[in-house]
Amino acid sequence: YVGQEVMPLLTDELYQETVGQLMVPPLLIPQTTMIDEAVTQLFMHDVGSLYVTDEQSGLLGVLSRKDLLRATINTTNTQTTPVAMIMTRMPNITTTTEETSVLHAGQRLIAHQVDSLPVVAIDGITVIGKITKSIIMRYFIEAGLHNQS
Ligand code: ADP
Repeated sequence: YVGQEVMPLLTDELYQETVGQLMVPPLLIPQTTMIDEAVTQLFMHDVGSLYVTDEQSGLLGVLSRKDLLRATINTTNTQTTPVAMIMTRMPNITTTTEETSVLHAGQRLIAHQVDSLPVVAIDGITVIGKITKSIIMRYFIEAGLHNQS
């Protein structure tokens, strides 16, 4: 019974939810931010990644936990080295849009083996949000729990 009731709901509705409905505000930093400051920001805001943007929120780069960990080991002075030296840069960043379904965003996260995707405006460059594996995970678990009761 449970399977019959849950599965049509999962495929028909849950996967159609859009990125815009699930995204969270991203943590944006300028490319002149020093590595040690970026590490502090990561801990202070309890996030897994930081997006590096210009003054108009235009996407320039992404910093993950491992990028910062690697830089901490490899960089001679993290207090004087800007994040621009170690970030993953455009155009090598996979992004998504507000209208994208959670199904396609999840597929992209898996295909590119990353934890988060910057959500960009129609111009393809202005960062307006962030969608992560954990947001999508929570969304499906909560939907499952909701369905049980
Ligand atoms: P971690 O490195 O902490 O495991 P990720 O798996 O998200 O976190 O990141 C893996 C690598 O991919 C990092 O070098 C990071 O800069 C880069 N990266 C993260 N998100 C993206 C993205 N959306 N597009 C392209 N590269 C990304």
